[in-house]
Amino acid sequence: MRYISTRARPTGTVGSSKPTFSEILLGGLAPDGGLYLPETYPRIDQSELARWRRLSYADLACAVLARFIDDIPPDDLRTLTHRTYTAAIYSNGRNDSVASEITPLRWLDPPAPERGEGGLAILELSNGPTLAFKDMAMQLLGHLFEYVLTRNGEEINILGATSGDTGSSAEYAMRGKRGVRVFMLSPHQRMSAFQRAQMYSLQDPNIYNIAVRGTFDDAQDIVKAVSNDHAFKTRYRIGAVNSINWARVAAQVVYYFKGYFAATGGAGGNEGQQVAFAVPSGNFGNICAGHIARMMGLPIGRLILATNENDVLDEFFRSGVYRPRATSETAATSSPSMDISKASNFERFAFDLVGRDPEVIRRLWSAVDRGDSFDLSAERCFARLPDFGFVSGRSTHADRLETIRRTHDRYGLIIDPHTADGLKVGSERRTAEMPMVVLETALPAKFEETIVEALGRTPDRPATMEGLEKLPQRVEIMDVSVDQVQRFIVQHVP
Ligand SMILES: *Cc1c(COP(=O)(O)O)cnc(C)c1O
Repeated sequence: MRYISTRARPTGTVGSSKPTFSEILLGGLAPDGGLYLPETYPRIDQSELARWRRLSYADLACAVLARFIDDIPPDDLRTLTHRTYTAAIYSNGRNDSVASEITPLRWLDPPAPERGEGGLAILELSNGPTLAFKDMAMQLLGHLFEYVLTRNGEEINILGATSGDTGSSAEYAMRGKRGVRVFMLSPHQRMSAFQRAQMYSLQDPNIYNIAVRGTFDDAQDIVKAVSNDHAFKTRYRIGAVNSINWARVAAQVVYYFKGYFAATGGAGGNEGQQVAFAVPSGNFGNICAGHIARMMGLPIGRLILATNENDVLDEFFRSGVYRPRATSETAATSSPSMDISKASNFERFAFDLVGRDPEVIRRLWSAVDRGDSFDLSAERCFARLPDFGFVSGRSTHADRLETIRRTHDRYGLIIDPHTADGLKVGSERRTAEMPMVVLETALPAKFEETIVEALGRTPDRPATMEGLEKLPQRVEIMDVSVDQVQRFIVQHVP
């Protein structure tokens, strides 16, 4: 399997060679500014699906990923997926058979064929170390990085900025990994006590937390400035693990298969049935994996994209207009991990939508990169949108509270605000006869304030997180200064 950029120049021109999986693993954007995608999507037929249905999560992950990776020997890949997807890492301290499922499916309304109802379920993706679905891919990334770096005798220094979720997920994935150091910038005194404790309590010598006296955007600007200092970047082997990383998207494809099998009868089910997935979306990474699973032949009837008040993506799927917002136009909502102004992975889907024509993508994104919008409403490709199974909707603070309340009343289950956005939009855009799986993207314990507002009580915390805030913390506090951050890196990279 070779990879191409969404903005690739025609073959034969300079820089048109096609890299392998390992070659794009540690990088970010393609040199031409595009995103990497497989040259073609592997196709999975019915008999193979029937076989995959019986696999454990770790074996399924190996089977799916092997279709995208041909420069890591299958036995090594199996070792990595088995090291990653264990009940111990994805159980949250629970000790039951459910944990061994890694991503258990929980029926809210079980299927009732006699009434023509396909059923409604939640796919639990948040039982990893940081209680959010990002652990599903990030934990694998940690093992893949270590494997490839060791093989190549290389090191990487990951520099990132976080307002909470991604940074902690990256730290928990990279802690103790050979060849990897993490320098994570966060806004000083602007994260919740829980989020701070989660990150700053890590004592691993390869993890460095830096709290900058500023906002998330200030932190992000420092990361950009350091990454644009090409001499520094090369000398100190600066890398990133942001949401455009292809391996993260690929790892997320796996749980669509797992969720599909669980929703269609488990090990003894059959492959004819279509399933809808509702996906709380921000940077389009999660649902992009669903799109790819569908392109591989998984019978996904609908991909229901849910946004919060920051509805860049809903606007596109309704109108054909993609209009990224300025940071100042991006609202701070009660589903903060979906507060995005532009959806960094959207370019991957757009590439497929426009018939994989890199020239069109170059033209559209030259507008986006200038801060402009584009409009596909009059284009033929936009009329083909239904062929891709996408529908969308948006959810507000009031919807979130209402959905959390209703779910608690009806099912005795507390869901987090992001998952509530998915459930709200999914319920509006589904058809009764098709089973619908809502992807759970975080546990409610991460967003106590909103749960209290909705239910008047705090959600339970997994046993492993009790007393987290009392642990000793390790963090370097700095001014908003590119210089200081660079000096800190120099001091800590031998
Ligand atoms: C990252 C995140 C999202 C958005 O996922 P994308 O892949 O960016 O679309 C939704 N919910 C939670 C809790 C997240 O952490």
